[in-house]
Amino acid sequence: MAQNTIILATRNAGKIRELAEPLAAHGLRVVGLDAFPDMPEVEETGATFEENALLKAEAAARHTGCVAVADDSGLEVDALEGRPGVFSARYADDWPALEGESRDGRNIRKLLHELEGVPAGRRSCRFVCCMAACKPDGTRLTVRGAWEGRILDAPRGDGGFGYDPVFWDGEGQCSAAELTREQKNARSHRGAALKALLAAWPAFYGQ
Ligand code: IMP
Repeated sequence: MAQNTIILATRNAGKIRELAEPLAAHGLRVVGLDAFPDMPEVEETGATFEENALLKAEAAARHTGCVAVADDSGLEVDALEGRPGVFSARYADDWPALEGESRDGRNIRKLLHELEGVPAGRRSCRFVCCMAACKPDGTRLTVRGAWEGRILDAPRGDGGFGYDPVFWDGEGQCSAAELTREQKNARSHRGAALKALLAAWPAFYGQ
């Protein structure tokens, strides 16, 4: 691998596209894990977003011998003591799916059930994204971005993914699923984490 290659520890093409352009501005080439089919899946056993992002970045740096970047994200709901948190993707895996229901749909159904009777003023929440970078010598960097909002009583809009239809964005006065992709990137937890990563990058990478 060339000196200026960064491994993005994901097989998600959307995430690779999102990071490739800003990192290219730093003269870096982004390669996803599809280029390393023999790399084993990393179990996300961390108790925090930071721990999970580091687990993924460290494993990819060790396996490839290159600098690696990984992210972990999810939703924290205050009335649920921060749940679903690191379990956001698999939150309702213990619930039977309704016919034709997606995993995201089941997660939303469970979340709305758990918040039944909780008034609007106590439905505060945030999306959190943590990004970690790791060098093969073990040097590490973590950054975090958050997007504050409130959980709606019912889904609205059909854009985005995950919990977007029930996440109320006070600034836009709409759900995250009603924002355009550009609007969402401009204010999202992932956008904020990416900005923090790029700000810290020269000091980390040049170290
Ligand atoms: P991951 O970091 O890609 O594994 O995301 C974990 C889970 O958090 C996703 O499966 C979604 O359920 C939730 N999540 C993370 N970011 C967002 C977002 O921007 N909108 C809605 N849900 C999100």
